[in-house]
Amino acid sequence: MSELLLTGISQLVTAEGSSARRGAEMSKLRIVTGAAIAIDGGRISWMGREQDWNGFAVEVVDVGQRAVLPGLIDPHTHAVWAGDRLGDFEARAAGATYEDILASGGGIWHTIRETAGRSCEEMAATALPRIEALARSGATTVEVKSGYGYSVEAELRMLRTIRRMAGQTRVRIVPTLLIHICPQDEAERVALRDAVCGELIPEVAREGLARAVDIFVEQHAWSSTDARMILTCAKAHGLAIKLHTEQFQNVGGLELGLELGALSVDHLEACTEVQCRAVGESTTIATILPGVSLHLGLPAAPGRRLVEAGAAVAIGTDLNPGSSPLFSTSAAMGLAVRMNGLNALEALAACTINAAAALGLSDAGRLEAGCVADLLVLASDDWRDLAYAMGHSVVRDVWVGGRRLEL
Ligand SMILES: [Zn+2]
Repeated sequence: MSELLLTGISQLVTAEGSSARRGAEMSKLRIVTGAAIAIDGGRISWMGREQDWNGFAVEVVDVGQRAVLPGLIDPHTHAVWAGDRLGDFEARAAGATYEDILASGGGIWHTIRETAGRSCEEMAATALPRIEALARSGATTVEVKSGYGYSVEAELRMLRTIRRMAGQTRVRIVPTLLIHICPQDEAERVALRDAVCGELIPEVAREGLARAVDIFVEQHAWSSTDARMILTCAKAHGLAIKLHTEQFQNVGGLELGLELGALSVDHLEACTEVQCRAVGESTTIATILPGVSLHLGLPAAPGRRLVEAGAAVAIGTDLNPGSSPLFSTSAAMGLAVRMNGLNALEALAACTINAAAALGLSDAGRLEAGCVADLLVLASDDWRDLAYAMGHSVVRDVWVGGRRLEL
């Protein structure tokens, strides 16, 4: 006997098995027509064709011949920030570049100054509606990074904010410590790096404030030498690692990530053919962020080449105030089809099973017995509408842990 049975599912599309889908496997998903799902204790207990169900359910919910998909997983956001970047948006529309704005003390420095003065309560109150917006677009798990702190104390406050938010929403929140801006002054850089390794990472590990440590590796950010010290320290404290890398230049970040067994390397707009093949031969997930390319008008990451090289590609919104004010995970999925050359099945794998792998989750991102019952009921009977529709969400209902979210 099951607690709950969902029936009337026109199409159910899911990856099978707990490992990430690589290369050509990304488009080999299971499509079940006329499906049903049984749910017990917040997890899927059975899934298959409705006509094959021969159990008994206490409650039956008929979704009315609509498509059902795994809840989307957004593996890369900076959803906690204070202030806004509307001035930057106007300046860029008038011709200023990202670097011009940064050099004039705007951009991320503005966000750091605004965020520094806020309490955890204030930050959580402004960030939660962003999580809810992502949930309305289909995200049932959202990774949230710190990174606008620029001091040990401010980073800890951001991570405590993320923990507070996790207790205030049913959307699953996965916290990441991001080592973001690198001081240009040599002594300040060394002091911050030493504080990160000597104080911040040990405290984050002790309090269980993050699952992974991420670092921004670029010419104007951290070097791969500093990143190696920081990521090695993170691993020694039992934390997974990730990198923001190959966004603008190739300064060794991607190779370092692959060598150290990073969960994911994220951005990759400047990833070369040789690097695509290296990712394809690794177990690291390639997370692409098409919202950045759209918002900044920069070249998109080579999604197609990564898939053809055998990589496991994931997609994130990179929700942040400066380079990707994209409040929709399903829109990121649709953009990856249009801008990064993925097909719709690959994009769905990238937003579900592969995004789960990018966060180290093995029981989410697919609809199989034993997995968490996180799923979407679309307004459409055809799942492809999710990546197709622009400026309009076709997500009708979002279920987390076997219960519908009130959105
Ligand atoms: Zn980012």
